Amino acid sequence: MTVRVGVIGAAGRMGSEVCRAVSGTDDLRLVAAVDPHHGGASLRDVAGIDTDLTVAADLDAIVDADCDVAVEFTGPAAVGANLRWLLDHDVHAVVGATGISDEDLAAARETAAAGRANALVAPNFAIGAVLLMQFAAEAAKHLPHVEIIELHHDRKVDAPSGTALRTAELIAQARREVPEAPLGDDRHPGARGAVHADVRVHSVRLPGIVANQEVIFGGAGQTLTIRHDSIDRTSFMPGVLLACREVAGLDGLVVGLEHLL
Ligand code: NAD
Repeated sequence: MTVRVGVIGAAGRMGSEVCRAVSGTDDLRLVAAVDPHHGGASLRDVAGIDTDLTVAADLDAIVDADCDVAVEFTGPAAVGANLRWLLDHDVHAVVGATGISDEDLAAARETAAAGRANALVAPNFAIGAVLLMQFAAEAAKHLPHVEIIELHHDRKVDAPSGTALRTAELIAQARREVPEAPLGDDRHPGARGAVHADVRVHSVRLPGIVANQEVIFGGAGQTLTIRHDSIDRTSFMPGVLLACREVAGLDGLVVGLEHLL
C-alpha cells in the first residue's frame, strides 16, 4: 500500500531533504508540502525534485491531499500547535522538530490516546545518535559522572538540543546514583553549561557544523567518550522514512526512534 505523505516546513533544511527522500521511494508518495514562508513556490525549485506540487501556506493542504502521514520539521515555535492540529484531523504525525514544550507534548499524548491518529516524536532520526543514547544509558549505570557537549550549526534556534535533553533523561533513568557537583564557583555564568535531569549540558553553535554530540564519562583514572557526528542531513532520512512506514501501527504517541528499531 502506498502511504500518502505531507511535509510541514517543506522549504527548510530538513523539510526539503525529507521531500527528496520521500520522492525517492516506491512505497511513499509525496502529496503535500506546507511552509507559510514559501507559500505558492514551486516544490521543484524549493527541493530540487521532479514534481508539479506547489508549496502551500496553510495546513489545510494536508487534509485536502488526503495525507496518511505528515512529517513535521518546523521549529520550537510551531511544532506544538502543528502536532495538535494533525492529531485533531486524524493524520498520523512524524515529528522531527525539536523544542516542543512538556505541556504541548503531554496534551498531544492525551489527544493521540483518545483519537485515531498516532505520533512518533524523535529528537534525532539518525541511527547512530539513537545508538549513542542507548550506549550512554548503559555506561551511566557504571560511570555516573557524566557531561554532554552538543555541537550544531549556528542557525539552530533551540539550546540545548533535543538530542542532548533526551540523552540526559535516559542517563538519569539509568544511573544508580547522582554524584555530588564538583567544587568551584561559576565566575562566568554559563561556563559550566546548563543542567537537565541532573546532567550538565554544553551547547556549541558554529557555522560549518551539522549536528554532533559527545557524552563524556569520568571515573577513577579513566574517561569514556561516546561521540556521534551527523556530517550530512541524509543521515536522518532512513529514520524518517521508517517512521512514515510504521507510525500507523503505533499505539498513540511514542517518543524516540528506538521504539521502531
Ligand atoms: P529551517 O529553519 O531550515 O526550516 C524550518 C522551516 O519551517 C522553514 O522553512 C520555515 O519557513 C518553516 N516553518 C516555520 N513555521 C512554520 C509553520 N507554522 N508551518 C509550516 N512551516 C513552518 O530548520 P531546520 O534546520 O530544517 O530544522 C527544523 C527542525 O528540525 C528544528 O527544530 C531542528 O532542531 C530539527 N531537527 C531535528 C532532527 C531530528 O533528527 N529529529 C535533525 C535535524 C534538525
